[in-house]
Amino acid sequence: MTETDRPEPDVDVVVVGAGIAGLYLIYRLSRAGYRLRVFEAADDLGGTWYWNRYPGARVDVPSIDYMYSFDPDWQRDWQWSEKYARQPEILRYLNHVADKHDLRRHLTFSTRVRQAGWDDDASLWRVRTDRGDDVTARFVVMATGCLSVPKQTEIDGLERFTGEVYFTSRWPHDPVDFTGKRVAVIGTGSSGVQSIPIIAQEARQVVVFQRTPTFSIPAHNGQLSPERLAQFAANEADYRSAARMSPGGIPMERSITPTFSVTETEREQRYERAWEIGELFEAINVYADVMSNPAANHEFAEFFRNKIRAIVDDPQTATDLCPTDYPVATKRPCLDTNYYATYNLPHVRLVNIRKHPIRQVTETGIDTTDESFTFDAIVFATGFDAVTGAITEVDIRGRNGLALKDKWANGPQTYLGLTTAGFPNLFLITGPGSPSVLSNMAVSIEQHVDWVLDCLGHLCARGFAVIEPTETAETGWTQHVSDCADITLFPAANSWYMGANVPGKPRVFLPYCAGVDFYRASCDEVVAHDYLGFTLSGRGGTECNDGVVRRLQPDVEMVLNRMAAMNLPTMESMPVEDARAFYNQMSAVRPPGPDVGEIVDGTLPGTSGALAYRLYRPPTTPGPRPIIVYFHGGGWVVGDAISDDPLCRDLCVRSDAIVISADYRHAPEHRFPAAVDDAMAAVRWVADNAEALGGIPGLLAVCGWNAGGGLAAVVCRLARDMGGPNIIGQALLTPSTDGDMARASFTDNADGYGLTTALVRWLYDHYIDIADRRDPRFAPLRATDLSGLPPAIVVTAEFDPVRDDGDAYAIALEAAGVPTEHVRARGHTHKSVTMVDVAISGAPVRARIAKALRQFFAATRTPEPAS
Ligand SMILES: Cc1cc2nc3c(=O)[nH]c(=O)nc-3n(C[C@H](O)[C@H](O)[C@H](O)COP(=O)(O)OP(=O)(O)OC[C@H]3O[C@@H](n4cnc5c(N)ncnc54)[C@H](O)[C@@H]3O)c2cc1C
Repeated sequence: MTETDRPEPDVDVVVVGAGIAGLYLIYRLSRAGYRLRVFEAADDLGGTWYWNRYPGARVDVPSIDYMYSFDPDWQRDWQWSEKYARQPEILRYLNHVADKHDLRRHLTFSTRVRQAGWDDDASLWRVRTDRGDDVTARFVVMATGCLSVPKQTEIDGLERFTGEVYFTSRWPHDPVDFTGKRVAVIGTGSSGVQSIPIIAQEARQVVVFQRTPTFSIPAHNGQLSPERLAQFAANEADYRSAARMSPGGIPMERSITPTFSVTETEREQRYERAWEIGELFEAINVYADVMSNPAANHEFAEFFRNKIRAIVDDPQTATDLCPTDYPVATKRPCLDTNYYATYNLPHVRLVNIRKHPIRQVTETGIDTTDESFTFDAIVFATGFDAVTGAITEVDIRGRNGLALKDKWANGPQTYLGLTTAGFPNLFLITGPGSPSVLSNMAVSIEQHVDWVLDCLGHLCARGFAVIEPTETAETGWTQHVSDCADITLFPAANSWYMGANVPGKPRVFLPYCAGVDFYRASCDEVVAHDYLGFTLSGRGGTECNDGVVRRLQPDVEMVLNRMAAMNLPTMESMPVEDARAFYNQMSAVRPPGPDVGEIVDGTLPGTSGALAYRLYRPPTTPGPRPIIVYFHGGGWVVGDAISDDPLCRDLCVRSDAIVISADYRHAPEHRFPAAVDDAMAAVRWVADNAEALGGIPGLLAVCGWNAGGGLAAVVCRLARDMGGPNIIGQALLTPSTDGDMARASFTDNADGYGLTTALVRWLYDHYIDIADRRDPRFAPLRATDLSGLPPAIVVTAEFDPVRDDGDAYAIALEAAGVPTEHVRARGHTHKSVTMVDVAISGAPVRARIAKALRQFFAATRTPEPAS
């Protein structure tokens, strides 16, 4: 079918849902002149705030932040009454916006979209509802909400109960009176935490059935904080813009202070301040590493637990209310008013159903395994099939009849959380893979809607009718979303963020957790690069700038961005002495790395005088240990025996071996082969003195990073050819193994990833004459025979100028029959894997290095029996 033959659809856009997202879509689409239909299952608008009318329902981000920003004169006809508005007020606000901007006329209520199928020939969607509507549209936008499908109850016997049953997410419109009643509340997530204190004010008896305790901080509701109001009043436009560029959608500086970089007293004061302020995003932002460092998180969690213990009188109830089996904030924390204190009331009781599981609901109440309770009413506050539930509930079929539910059977795959491959012209507002439930959703919703509108405008202007993400872009984004989660503690909790609350739902971390600011930057970059990763087609032909928007590990990218913002001079622009001082200065601000058992500084005899070394002894195991001789990085010109201190500590602890970081003479004072001679001398000396150093004679491996990796490789070959010492393994981390700078990585990664090709050239030039660069003592790759070398682990980094050298060396070792583990560190740079406690994504790579070293030692300790 040609473009001109294609049937005209009934409307341009079908929108599903009339919550905050649906209403803003109507505002933007109608003003831009699109023809639209909007279906809403409820009898009226409001979404979350239509359905969740339970007592105590409120926002947990300040009202002034949880509102639209598109309406510049909003203050003329609206005023928030409280810091955290209640549900009726938010619903009134949404109705007010709808009336003010005449949005209602596009809405069809009490109508649920059941099916949406893509007709590839006609390039349009066919949308069907439960009321018999059959509408065709060019685009479908799912504004169906992240928390709009209540989770099914898992408790037997509910139909037998003769009393009243309520679900917080489907609360009646008429007031519910609990006066004098015995009430059960099942669930202690946000809805439970908000409603329990209010229900307890009326009821005769309240029994709370809790499976997982929650972390909650007092909301201190009332007037909005004067600081925030002042910030807001000064300039609303700046305020809103700061919110858009913030980590969570509320103006806030991202903390860059690691927890343990300040004193215990200072930390305690900081935690207290967060408790007093009563704002969720502020609390999570106390220190930079709360969501990534288990020890930091544990300390913060303990602060919360102490608060609970201090508030709750009964020690057993306090213990049961203290969360202990997941890190704080890996499940959404709550804001409360009198939640914990409510358990001090004589008529309120907590039942820990982990210890006393619910067996069934009976005609008159609830039976646990060891007690029968009688109730007049049961309230279910049991949460939602979050983020994906409302999308997969609709039978959405894309190209070739592919069902979205099937595509997502093992977890959702999206591009930017906005689109999904195989489903052209389908947009998901706050879909999986976007910040959604980890952010102030009002801000995230506006950003998504604005992005969709810009996209539609672009298609129209360029004569395209269809847009669809590519598999490459989607796979890259899905990987990035997962990489972001993997450097945090989020995956450690069985949370609804992970889909863990719904039986059978795949365990995948659903939202994008690197922040609203980074997320927005990705979306903007996609557009700026001609809709990178999308195929656009129509009258204007077909266009696709395929690619992946985020290829670096997220923490590596953050470090690089921070470095770039500092606008530092390049080392190659400095005299050598200044470059060394600069290198040391940069090293001084790193986190120290883990504690080791002992550190001993000493000297060893080099070929031309004493060389410094630092010995790291592992913390726990008594008795002699294997030894790793380590050669530092710095391109033969900068660095020294202690310049890779955090890495050496990490290596020591992970491998349970003694690490001896040995110095070697540096260029340009001592050019090639001075460093090799010293490295060889160091290994010999350590081998000869292994016992005195606390080592196990015969269990000696070498390791090195960068130039040190090259030296470690060279030493292995020289030891083989010179009859010893016996080296049983080599760990080469982004090693320099050749002098040929013609390989692609020198061009592809020439700049922007820390080590630059210009700097590599500067270092080579200081160290070695061009004529010597094929000498295998500089370029181990050039050795004619690599057979018989010790088993190796070679780590190369994707964004490293010397990557291809390292790759070639790993391949050459394998080809020579050397047992070789080749680790290609995806998304890493030359240095990032060494950045202990800075680039957390490097930790699994270092764990593999340590594991390989342990295996080298283990294999030597227990030689294969002779056949
Ligand atoms: C109790 C509660 C408190 C919350 N507090 C906050 C907060 O403080 N801050 C915050 O940022 N977020 C909060 N949230 C998240 C909240 O969902 C969002 O902030 C926001 O309201 C979402 O708006 P939405 O339009 O995307 O989705 P929703 O408000 O969920 O609206 C989606 C609408 O789509 C309709 N729908 C779904 N499927 C279909 C279908 N197939 N056919 C027709 N209609 C359909 C639903 O009926 C619903 O009305 C809270 C959520 C809950 C449940």
